[in-house]
Amino acid sequence: MSTGTRVLVLNAGSSSVKYQLIEMLDGSRLAAGLVERIGEPNGRLVHTPRGGPRRETLQTFPDHGAALKSVAEELAADGVGLDSPELAAIGHRVVHGGLRFTAPTLVDDEVLAEIRRLVPVAPLHNPANITGIEVARALRPDLPQIAVFDTAFHATMPEYAARYAIDRAVADEHRVRRYGFHGTSHQYVSRATAALLGRDPAELNVIVLHLGNGASASAVAGGVCVDTSMGLTPLEGLVMGTRSGDVDPGVVFHLHRVGGLTIDQIDDLLNRRSGLLGLCGDNDMREIMRRSEEGDAAARLAFDTYVHRLRKYIGGYYAVLGRVDAIAFTAGVGENAAPVRAAATAGLDQLGISVDPELNAVRSGEARVISPEYSRVTVAVVPTDEELEIAQQAFALVHAAG
Ligand code: AMP
Repeated sequence: MSTGTRVLVLNAGSSSVKYQLIEMLDGSRLAAGLVERIGEPNGRLVHTPRGGPRRETLQTFPDHGAALKSVAEELAADGVGLDSPELAAIGHRVVHGGLRFTAPTLVDDEVLAEIRRLVPVAPLHNPANITGIEVARALRPDLPQIAVFDTAFHATMPEYAARYAIDRAVADEHRVRRYGFHGTSHQYVSRATAALLGRDPAELNVIVLHLGNGASASAVAGGVCVDTSMGLTPLEGLVMGTRSGDVDPGVVFHLHRVGGLTIDQIDDLLNRRSGLLGLCGDNDMREIMRRSEEGDAAARLAFDTYVHRLRKYIGGYYAVLGRVDAIAFTAGVGENAAPVRAAATAGLDQLGISVDPELNAVRSGEARVISPEYSRVTVAVVPTDEELEIAQQAFALVHAAG
């Protein structure tokens, strides 16, 4: 068994790689960085070592292999290279684990082949994740490579929540069901919420609202996910930065038959030109709130539509859980946008949900309660840390395997 205490977390996207090197003894970051615009002429690597100034490299990274090689060089320059004996494992974020991968998994050829078989259900994400794993394996073939799946935490959803009400045979043939995403975040935040409240996760019912550029809600009962807002793909559910969230599937037929759009154009419309961006031309909540303050009607409508959908999910998951102990806001919007938190919870005192305006206005990077003492449901802001969650799961697996 490896005696290393560090985990490198890799999150490979189609043209980017994000990474963090984490010391598991205390959860501290030894280095973090990002390579972007891989495959384009104007690539960029930003590397931040612990305690040091950030370094920027502007050059072309022809592919993920070249990008990771440069990351390895940056780490080596800091004395924490990939050949260091302290490195215990590389943890990979993999978006879609399908029905098989419901836990962190040590990657071998067979596992990699199975992740590849899932590409048809995650065409935007899994190919890049696979490339990240292949490149990392080539760099350190002897090191455990561990895949941590975005879908895994949601595998506990009961069948009636995971099923779409469509012909079962057709659904099963094409693996069409609700898988859910952002699982590492929902898992981390639901546990961190229990820690904030000094409660055992097993006895706590939490609604987690992960509001980033992508956004999803989940209902977590006693530490177990019982429903989540994303489905077969990360398109279902809440209004997002550029994704529509829920729409009547009839919209797709209509746009195709009557509007003359191709399926690819509709895919592009719903995934990349909808949500906040489609409603008002901006997908950054800061900009939308600023414009809204200035009386911009389109920005106001985008804000209101976003909040309305959020409130429907809060109400829906309240009914799913029956008893709600806490609501946790997380990710870029959830952690920073006090007006969104205020609007999403306004007028819900009858449900035992209240927010203290002063506590809500506090800016902090720490997990914190924003509801008053008398609120039956604790409302909290709980910063997510998907990289730490991935590292912890990978590290635990390495030790269990040893
Ligand atoms: P994430 O995907 O978690 O990184 O979240 C990114 C999104 O968070 C951005 O697109 C913004 O809309 C939002 N965001 C970040 N900082 C703030 C802020 N200070 N106030 C409001 N929204 C913010």
